[in-house]
Amino acid sequence: MAARTLDGRALAEELRAAATDRAARLRERGVVPRLDVVVAGDDAASATYVRSIQTAGTKTGVDVHVERLPPTCDEAHVRALLRVLGDDPLVHGVIVQQPLPPHLEMRRIAESVPAAKDVDGTSPVNLGRLAARTGDALVAATPSAVMLLLDRSERRSLRGVRACVVGRSSVVGLPVALLLLARDATVTLVHRGTRDLGERTREAEVLVAAAGAPAMIRAGMVAPGATVIDVGTNYVDGRLCGDVAFDEVAAVADEITPVPGGVGPVTNVALMSNVLTVAERSANSS
Ligand code: NAD
Repeated sequence: MAARTLDGRALAEELRAAATDRAARLRERGVVPRLDVVVAGDDAASATYVRSIQTAGTKTGVDVHVERLPPTCDEAHVRALLRVLGDDPLVHGVIVQQPLPPHLEMRRIAESVPAAKDVDGTSPVNLGRLAARTGDALVAATPSAVMLLLDRSERRSLRGVRACVVGRSSVVGLPVALLLLARDATVTLVHRGTRDLGERTREAEVLVAAAGAPAMIRAGMVAPGATVIDVGTNYVDGRLCGDVAFDEVAAVADEITPVPGGVGPVTNVALMSNVLTVAERSANSS
C-alpha cells in the first residue's frame, strides 16, 4: 500500500497564517520584526536559498536584510559584523549563510553568532541549552520543521517510539535527535562511521534522513509501517531530490515526506517563527 504523504506545503501555509498574524501584532506595537542574513561569498545554491528566505519574509511580514561581505573578508571582519548585529536592538534574528569561503571556519564563526538572536541554531550556546533542556533554547529551523511534521503524523505520541536519525551535524541531525529524546523517543543516531547502517534504520518506527546523500535510504532499509522524514536537499542533474528513494520507500512506509514539498517549506516558516519569538521577547521586556 502507498504511504500517506506528509504535505509540507500545506502545513507551511497553515503555519504562515499564524506567523503573519504575530508579525502584524508586533507591527501594531511599533516593532518591525527583522532578520539579517550574513553572506560572505558567492555560492549559487546559497543565493537561491537567500532569495527563498527573502520571499518567506515578505509573505510573513518579517523584514529580511542581506549583509554582504566580500569573499576575501577575514574572520575578524565577520566577527565584527556579528557583534554590531548582536548589539542592534532593531535586529531580531541573525543567520550566517553557508557555505562560507574555504578560508573561514564555520565552527569558529558560530561562537560569535549572538545566542539571543540565533534563529538558525548555529550558536553552540543554543545546542547546549537544547541538550541541557533549559527551555529557553532557540531551536534551529530545520529540526523544528521535522518535529512540526511529526506532530502532523498519525503517531499520537513519540513516547517510547524507536527513532533513528541518519546524520549527526550540529545544525540538523544532532538537534533532531535531542528533540526526539525530549519527547521520550528511544533514539539511535547513525552516521558515516556506523556499521550495519541498514539494520539500525530498519529497526526504526520513525526514520529521519539528514545525510545529504541522494536516495541513500532504500526500501530494504525501512521497517514496514514506518514514518519517514526526508531532510535531504540534493541536486542531481539539476533536479532537487532527497536522501530517500521516494517511490520504493513509499511502498513500504506508512507516512513519508516528499522532496520537494516536505521539510523545506516548513523550515522557512519555522525560521520566521523564531525571528518573531525573539521580537516578541524583546518587545515584552522593553
Ligand atoms: P552535513 O554534511 O553537515 O552532515 C551530514 C551528516 O550525515 C554527517 O553526520 C555524516 O556522517 C552523515 N552522512 C553523510 N553521508 C552518509 C551516509 N552515506 N551514510 C551515513 N551517514 C552519512 O549536512 P547537514 O548540514 O546536516 O545537512 C544534511 C542534509 O540536509 C543535506 O542534504 C542538506 O542540504 C539538508 N538540509 C535541508 C534543510 C531543509 O530545510 N530541508 C536544511 C538544512 C539542511
